Amino acid sequence: MASMFLLVERNETTVQEPRAVSIDDESLRTMQAIGVVDAVMSRVVLGYGSDYFSARGSCFLRVRPTLKEYGYPKRNAFRQPVFEQQLRDYFCAHAVNKTHSEAWFSTELIDFRQGPDVVHLVLRRADGSLIEISASYLIACDGGRSFIREKLGIKLSGSTFGERWLILDLEETRDTHAIQKCFCDPARPCLSLPGPDRTRRFEFMFA
Ligand SMILES: Cc1cc2nc3c(=O)[nH]c(=O)nc-3n(C[C@H](O)[C@H](O)[C@H](O)COP(=O)(O)OP(=O)(O)OC[C@H]3O[C@@H](n4cnc5c(N)ncnc54)[C@H](O)[C@@H]3O)c2cc1C
Repeated sequence: MASMFLLVERNETTVQEPRAVSIDDESLRTMQAIGVVDAVMSRVVLGYGSDYFSARGSCFLRVRPTLKEYGYPKRNAFRQPVFEQQLRDYFCAHAVNKTHSEAWFSTELIDFRQGPDVVHLVLRRADGSLIEISASYLIACDGGRSFIREKLGIKLSGSTFGERWLILDLEETRDTHAIQKCFCDPARPCLSLPGPDRTRRFEFMFA
């Protein structure tokens, strides 16, 4: 097989459920470096600020983004499902560093073994058939429960918050302010975040 970049994904498609809604300046800079930023930008709301409200509803703080150290505002609104589809379209339509690229969906990496010069991969297609291929590199970007990291004994470092939050995404919202609203009621903190295309996310902390 000729040299190429191969993206292997267990699922049939890119992510469909709502996930990230905020993309930072460093990530947009990375999109610029790989040549996809113009395509992505059509569905990004650049540079939103935050208003903070007391439990009684009065605004006590307004924060607006000013710095553009990497050429983009630090906080920008997007939709992860849209973004992933844009990346997939771009990846499948363009050579990466002049090297042919392909995406194999409905394909699972089920085993791998490091050889002296290459890594040997075993992939399972949707019909259950197995394919063995060799690659110069295997990149472990297989999520929080990464099988690759587990097999290599690499621990996931970091921490998470203890609270549980309920997240609601609305379409065709009437609140089109490109501002995050933080309702700082200790009894029930709530966030309202702007999105592209008249979408809006609400986040409520469970008591
Ligand atoms: C509600 C919610 C809100 C969030 N908000 C934000 C936010 O505002 N900003 C932000 O930066 N982040 C946010 N995040 C986090 C963000 O969505 C994740 O950090 C991001 O999706 C992680 O990307 P990833 O590529 O590392 O992993 P994933 O998105 O999990 O992708 C890994 C992929 O690998 C595939 N895979 C796994 N194992 C195999 C295998 N053996 N063979 C083939 N394929 C395999 C999986 O099917 C999956 O598609 C949010 C997440 C949630 C749930």
